[in-house]
Amino acid sequence: MSLLDVRGLTVTYAGGAAAVRGVDLRLEAGRTLGLAGESGCGKSTLALALLRLLPAGTRITGEVLLDGEDVLTMRWGRLRAVRWAGVSLVFQGAMHSLNPVRRVGDQIAEPILLHHGATPAGARRRTGELLEQVGLPAARADAHPHELSGGQRQRVMIAMALACEPRLIVADEPTTALDVMVQAQILRLIERLVAERDLGLIMISHDLAVLAATCDRLAVMYAGRVVEEGPARQVYEDARHPYARALSAAFPRIGDPASRFAPRGLAGDPPDPAALPSGCAFHPRCPVVLESCATRDQELRAAGAGRRAACVRVTGPAAEPFEEARPGTP
Ligand code: ADP
Ligand code: MG
Repeated sequence: MSLLDVRGLTVTYAGGAAAVRGVDLRLEAGRTLGLAGESGCGKSTLALALLRLLPAGTRITGEVLLDGEDVLTMRWGRLRAVRWAGVSLVFQGAMHSLNPVRRVGDQIAEPILLHHGATPAGARRRTGELLEQVGLPAARADAHPHELSGGQRQRVMIAMALACEPRLIVADEPTTALDVMVQAQILRLIERLVAERDLGLIMISHDLAVLAATCDRLAVMYAGRVVEEGPARQVYEDARHPYARALSAAFPRIGDPASRFAPRGLAGDPPDPAALPSGCAFHPRCPVVLESCATRDQELRAAGAGRRAACVRVTGPAAEPFEEARPGTP
């Protein structure tokens, strides 16, 4: 059984637009999955749906099986237990999720006291251990959030996420607000903690290069759907779906100094969920579009060993090599 098995997940906000459309994803314990895609493609919506943390009035259909148990049909009490001890979220901008007037140690200790029945002394000890595991001195427990740097605050958020020993961590752009050096340190930290504890990790970013360096597998989303999924390095270096290709071309190659100065982008903007193009939602921007793409959408299908893609060029009847038309090739 997979740690997480998402089936046909569709999320429709009140007002009518589907921000996530029929997503299937799996994650095994001890593995890491990167979720990439331009801003607005539904990454955060998907993350929040995993814990039913969406605003009232949002419609969620499909299944979110956590160790085989469907989060979407759980009773409230069980859901609350899962939110505390099953899955932890680490968000962008830790500054805003920490309470500014409370010591960070007390904030880390709170769930340990509430949900693990620890004594105050036991919770304090555990808080010190957690701080040390995320690379902060135990004495920083007495600091208030404003006394810490952005990177230190993000470390505190990670300590909080680990406090109840979750099975799965979902990190939504955990380092986007940090400078590059600190970003790399935080990513290394998350990687190490996940490996040591046999957790599952879903790491969300718009930056494919960061995900390729951190994750086992990568899923690329476009307009609420997963359009490609497979081993991270393969998706990054040799994507099948034209959108995934364009996205990976938009970021500098690791170890390729030339590409740093010539990132190849993609023209146009991602569509508004309220006004999706017909057929394949990517077709108006696609450099290798066919006439049928305007009327027929594609399912995610096998595209080589352990890989899936949703493109008529890759898995459909019109599959053909499109190397010549690779987006951005000079
Ligand atoms: P990402 O995290 O990939 O940038 P989001 O999941 O935040 O994307 O957003 C996906 C789409 O859902 C966007 O079009 C966004 O405007 C819309 N959206 C996000 N949150 C809400 C909300 N609370 N109510 C209505 N629409 C929303
Ligand atoms: Mg987001």
